[in-house]
Amino acid sequence: LFNRIAPLPRGGVLTVAGSDSGGGAGIQADLKTITLLGSYGASVLTALTAQNTRGVSAVHGLPPSFVREQLAAVLSDLPIDVIKTGMLHTPAIIELLAEYLAEQSRLFPLVVDPVMVAKGGAHLLEPDAVQSFVRELVPRSYLLTPNLPEAERLLSRRIQTEGEMEQAARDLHALGAANVLVKGGHLAAGAAVDILFDGTSVHRFSAERIFTSATHGTGCTFASAIATFLARGEPLVEAVHRAKTFISQAIRLARPLGKGHGPVNHYL
Ligand code: PLP
Repeated sequence: LFNRIAPLPRGGVLTVAGSDSGGGAGIQADLKTITLLGSYGASVLTALTAQNTRGVSAVHGLPPSFVREQLAAVLSDLPIDVIKTGMLHTPAIIELLAEYLAEQSRLFPLVVDPVMVAKGGAHLLEPDAVQSFVRELVPRSYLLTPNLPEAERLLSRRIQTEGEMEQAARDLHALGAANVLVKGGHLAAGAAVDILFDGTSVHRFSAERIFTSATHGTGCTFASAIATFLARGEPLVEAVHRAKTFISQAIRLARPLGKGHGPVNHYL
């Protein structure tokens, strides 16, 4: 057993997100991913969901003052290199987080996954929070990671081709995000292509499309993997490349769990 104990974790990642009681997405997916990839994971919860592979049956938001208390507890003590955000739930939590980060003496690289609606249709971000999100968090993002429906919502237009994905990445960069990764998993067909714009160059990441219903937690897991590779000191393009390989494997090797959309595999 002792021989199997891994070396000390390298890098610290704080995830600010919602709980998925089913364990496949949200905070649970984030902490599993961060741990599996060898960093230390801390968590600040924004909301709790009653959820399984069939969907979300209830959402219980936490008071912004308590979110602030968690941020203060973690950041005053633990070695955090990168902050990753997921479900932020309300405009009040978005504003509190932006304000809290602005007060800090150091700048944390922020990986911002603009979580909005669960596959089953439950609102993980209140519809009227999108404006606060664009105003307060997009300009603070080191990396913004929208999937196609999220990029469409942020830009109020349809995105249906790789060319339109690239333009979306450029336009979200113009709104203030330092780097933008537009994920093409929702495109109708072809390979699973993601487009990264870093303000200068466009990078294309392609993987074979995997046909499966076990995709619950894909976005959370992918963003957490990127955050972890960044916390471990990888440059951005390498971090995205390695995270893309990881998420493709996690989808490919998902085992059937539950009666609905099973989670990706966090035990690779
Ligand atoms: N539940 C929580 C708490 C999440 O943060 C996320 C992340 O996007 C989801 C659910 C997503 O669920 P699904 O992959 O089924 O869309």
